[in-house]
Amino acid sequence: MSKVLIIGAGGVGTVVAHKVAKNPVFTEIMLASRTQSKCDQIAAAVGGGRIRTAQVDADDVSQLVALFRSFEPEIVINVALPYQDLTIMEACLECGVNYLDTANYEPKDQAHFEYSWQWAYHDRFREKGLTAILGCGFDPGVSAIFTAYAAKHHFDELHYLDIVDCNAGNHGMAFATNFNPEINIREITQNGRYYENGEWHTTKPLEIHKSLTYPNIGERDSYLLYHEELESLVKNFPTLKRARFWMTFGQEYLTHLRVIQNIGMARIDEVDYNGTKIVPLQFLKAVLPDPKSLGANYHGETSIGCRIRGIKDGKERTYYIYNNCDHEQAFKETGTQAVSYTTGVPAALGAAMYVRGLWKNPGVHNVEEFDPDPFLAELGEQGLPWVEKFDIDLEV
Ligand code: NDP
Repeated sequence: MSKVLIIGAGGVGTVVAHKVAKNPVFTEIMLASRTQSKCDQIAAAVGGGRIRTAQVDADDVSQLVALFRSFEPEIVINVALPYQDLTIMEACLECGVNYLDTANYEPKDQAHFEYSWQWAYHDRFREKGLTAILGCGFDPGVSAIFTAYAAKHHFDELHYLDIVDCNAGNHGMAFATNFNPEINIREITQNGRYYENGEWHTTKPLEIHKSLTYPNIGERDSYLLYHEELESLVKNFPTLKRARFWMTFGQEYLTHLRVIQNIGMARIDEVDYNGTKIVPLQFLKAVLPDPKSLGANYHGETSIGCRIRGIKDGKERTYYIYNNCDHEQAFKETGTQAVSYTTGVPAALGAAMYVRGLWKNPGVHNVEEFDPDPFLAELGEQGLPWVEKFDIDLEV
């Protein structure tokens, strides 16, 4: 009996629901979110009568506890927003439920994310014999599992890590974000940050960029961003001398982003509009295309991977491990584009790893702390095949 509760009925929740429903290891499935009708639509699209739905406000621990007590899940897959991580973890502790998410906690009133808030739950999860798996999407998620796999099989010491994330897809819209616009714009408009020689270095937003070549795609301008998995990876792989994260953006996207910032629409504080308090970025989300709606006309591929330099048997070697995911294929299978797909597939697979006893370890852990082998052995057949290249020019 492996009951799973999915919280969040957005693009990622849609993919998780499809994948979990296909996996017989999950005997009962519930999808809950703020708007139950969205859960009902997803359950109907998945079909087969496998998914029950519920309404829950995941900001409210007491509502979560009531839902957990009635459904009694073994694990919760949290694909709501990062704001809900701590309330869901609290409810897990109260009801004896294991936990998995794809994004680290972020307070609503500060565009700032770090693991400390969730790592602080480690002892409480461990004492209750519960496992919390943090950051099990693609990046964070597969990016860290790729790194763990490299460390386990191909290197004695990892020295330089560059996570490279390219979305070469075209959705035909002038401007849209590929996942929740509020979370996405908060992430990209922050200062950049990377780790080198034991210290964190801060850059202005999108200040550092270079052209990188992506498999099957070609050259794309790639921008150095701060990304959450860097924080856990430098802790879990202390031989790393440098760790950076790069993401591609087109000029059209960057121009829109600059205008959004310059006219104040990226603000996350409240402003008074005709006597009503509104947060400009939340209002902007309401008028931008829903990332879920992009799938139908999305063409092209994403390519996300890790470029690593380090030492094996006393010699320096380079290594590149990556996945390319096709937007149209993702849409055909789940009705969502590749960014939701590449996040939802690992989340569903990570939960399966837990219920099959392969990733059980009481406490709060980032994905790279688990054995990467069984996960990567199945990732390809779940829809995200991966490729390895050895001793090549990494460009970074
Ligand atoms: P969406 O905005 O499409 O979906 C979020 C869902 O959460 C919506 O259904 C929303 O409900 C629901 N929700 C929001 N607040 C609450 C609440 N208080 N109680 C219950 N439900 C709530 O986001 P995405 O699907 O694009 O992203 C989901 C998560 O995945 C995010 O945390 C995002 O950061 C993460 N992500 C991770 C990636 C990775 O590779 N690791 C990549 C991409 C995303 P409603 O519909 O009513 O608004």
